[in-house]
Amino acid sequence: MTLTMYACANCGHWQKWFATPPACPVCCDVRNELPEEGWHILGEKAVGDLLAAHWHRPVPGVTAFRALPSFGLGSTGWLIEAEGGNVAWEGAPYYPPGALAEIERLGGVTRLGASHVHGYGALWQLQRHFAPAVVAVGVQDLAWTKAFRVTWPVDERLELAPGLTVHRTGGHFPGHCVLHDARRGILFCGDALKVDLDGTVPRALSCHKAYHARIPLSHDEVRHYRSVIGALDFEAVATPFEFAAPVTTAEVLRLFDHQLAGRPDTAALPLGAGR
Ligand SMILES: [Zn+2]
Ligand SMILES: [Zn+2]
Repeated sequence: MTLTMYACANCGHWQKWFATPPACPVCCDVRNELPEEGWHILGEKAVGDLLAAHWHRPVPGVTAFRALPSFGLGSTGWLIEAEGGNVAWEGAPYYPPGALAEIERLGGVTRLGASHVHGYGALWQLQRHFAPAVVAVGVQDLAWTKAFRVTWPVDERLELAPGLTVHRTGGHFPGHCVLHDARRGILFCGDALKVDLDGTVPRALSCHKAYHARIPLSHDEVRHYRSVIGALDFEAVATPFEFAAPVTTAEVLRLFDHQLAGRPDTAALPLGAGR
């Protein structure tokens, strides 16, 4: 028996195991759904045969890597140009050779991080291929990181590059983090926010403890989001699934204030008129 990598087709979570793993811990967690028709867990070769690379640049200096057809939750791996080398934040479900070649062409990866387990994707592949010195994840989420090696466990805050800072928000997961790009005015917000898009136009915002099960955050969790995210200036957000602009600090604060005004809920709050 040898240890190899396997991915859950339901959520995309990768596990290193001796044979096809018996279950997926992410799907067993309250924040995700169990697969309706049982486990479908694939080895790396099967995933590689299935998926093609896809990427686009929503703004200069930021590249979004995905895989087609959609696999698991359909995560996006962001590659962000920064002083001292590229920062990769979150991971695509898989990086076929074409995607790795494009990352190499753009200068590789010198620092790597992710908001929480739903955004990890094939982060292990970026570590294997580019061997970045820094792999940063919230220390309270280490239990989910067995497919790769965290080299810099994050407490509350870590500057990954000049103008690119990780902040722990907790909430959705205890170690959940966001990455603030102060120069571009982008909040890589993980699952702290969900954006409803109409084409490419942001229409509504919501926040969740568990998206599929529609469990809201507690008031203390929203207050912590408010204190951390409310202090950051941004005009766009990038979740593990989409890039959305304009979405501003003021609009996100409005969502949190709405949550705190009464019983918390997971309903999407429409963004202001004129959109
Ligand atoms: Zn799963
Ligand atoms: Zn999540």
